[in-house]
Amino acid sequence: MHPLFLFAGYLAVALMPLLLGALQDLPPRHWRDEIASGLGMSAFAILLVEFVLSGRFRTISARIGMDVTMRFHQLVARTALGFVILHPFLYLTSPMGTPLPYDPTGQFTLGLDTGSMLTGVLAWVALPCFVLMSIFRDQLPYRYEAWRAMHALGALVIAGAVTHHTFEAGRYSADPLLAGFWVLLLAGALASLVWTYLLSPLREARHPYEVSSVAKIALKTWELTLRPKDGDALPFEAGQFAWLKLGPSPFTLAENPFSIASAPAERPDVRFVIKEVGDFTRRIGKVAPGTNAYLGRAHGNLTLTGREAKGVALIAGGVGIAPLLSIARQMQADGDTRPLTLLYGNRTAGQIVYAEELDRLADRADTKVVHVLSEPAPGWSGRKGMISAELIGEIFDAEDARDWLYILCGPPAMLELVEDALLAHGVPPKNILAEQFYYD
Ligand SMILES: Cc1cc2nc3c(=O)[nH]c(=O)nc-3n(C[C@H](O)[C@H](O)[C@H](O)COP(=O)(O)OP(=O)(O)OC[C@H]3O[C@@H](n4cnc5c(N)ncnc54)[C@H](O)[C@@H]3O)c2cc1C
Repeated sequence: MHPLFLFAGYLAVALMPLLLGALQDLPPRHWRDEIASGLGMSAFAILLVEFVLSGRFRTISARIGMDVTMRFHQLVARTALGFVILHPFLYLTSPMGTPLPYDPTGQFTLGLDTGSMLTGVLAWVALPCFVLMSIFRDQLPYRYEAWRAMHALGALVIAGAVTHHTFEAGRYSADPLLAGFWVLLLAGALASLVWTYLLSPLREARHPYEVSSVAKIALKTWELTLRPKDGDALPFEAGQFAWLKLGPSPFTLAENPFSIASAPAERPDVRFVIKEVGDFTRRIGKVAPGTNAYLGRAHGNLTLTGREAKGVALIAGGVGIAPLLSIARQMQADGDTRPLTLLYGNRTAGQIVYAEELDRLADRADTKVVHVLSEPAPGWSGRKGMISAELIGEIFDAEDARDWLYILCGPPAMLELVEDALLAHGVPPKNILAEQFYYD
């Protein structure tokens, strides 16, 4: 399925309540009232689909990537917030059940009772706080797991309030067709929660792993190797990632996404390259072999599968090398003879992982490995500076460079620069795949 179909499906769901409202053929109202109701109903549909977008469904993430899915989740949340803020102000009619003095016939009255008024106000106040708490998450004094728990609970409370408000208030609420649509969306949102917090962990509990080794492989960077306890190998494609949980139970919010750095050909073992950045990753070096581990299903669209390419370019910044290593390793295991170029940027030589393996990779026919250091020590004979547009133009100067597949992973600024450079170089967007590790 093309990502455009996903987007069209999304738009159809967000706009469906407007269509279902129009089909009711109610007596005409002022256009401002109609827009106010429309914004409210669209915002509710968007909010319910947000549960599905954050529900880690491979149908979505495998097509557009998890980072794009989460970006979209953030963007539409802000759009829904705009709709919700405007919603009460656009009405010309009074929201309360009691007609106002100038409206003895009640024609300008929406008919909210105290309950639906309260749930409307609750959602109207809570949603901006909720969105602001997400935008400024990094500035809050909470661990990611605590924030995530608050995010899930907050979303449930807001969805509950809006559900009550939508079913009880307004002139469209009595329509059975529209009510059926809301029930469907609510069921989808609930199913997404059950899937993420119950069914997935249950599945993980049936396939436990254990840590077989932890080794420091570069500055603040570790290799973590897992082995399945029951011998069942994780199905994944080179370039994908999985959520990792360490500890006695898979029923925990403490889970972190990591790209699988080993090739599918190395299964049943699964290796990760993990850089210390926060509370979980800083403790990784102290994890004892034998520790229980759980892995969610593999996600992501940073893969060669199903894509035509005359050559493969892997462009990594720092720990962004992890998924690209998996791809390079699998190409070797498959005897894939297509030209391969790996461009790998770091600050210092101490951050380069698997330097010897990469040297051996470079001995392969038609293979180049180019290291770039932004802060090299004296005596570094390789390339210096940042990965730049000039460097991209120079390295990928093959005649058929436009027909190569470019797979990028690294810091957001680097990804943006490289994507722009590749597009300017004539590479079509469909030949560029990128993934970033941080969603904001
Ligand atoms: C698709 C993907 C693949 C990744 N692959 C790798 C990899 O191969 N190697 C590597 O070193 N890092 C990888 N990361 C980044 C890694 O997940 C974070 O560095 C790690 O989770 C940080 O956890 P922490 O507790 O140490 O730090 P914290 O201080 O808790 O988190 C730092 C930042 O990491 C992100 N983060 C933390 N927990 C989660 C979570 N559960 N879900 C989503 N984001 C989270 C948030 O943006 C947070 O602000 C990947 C991230 C993603 C999204």
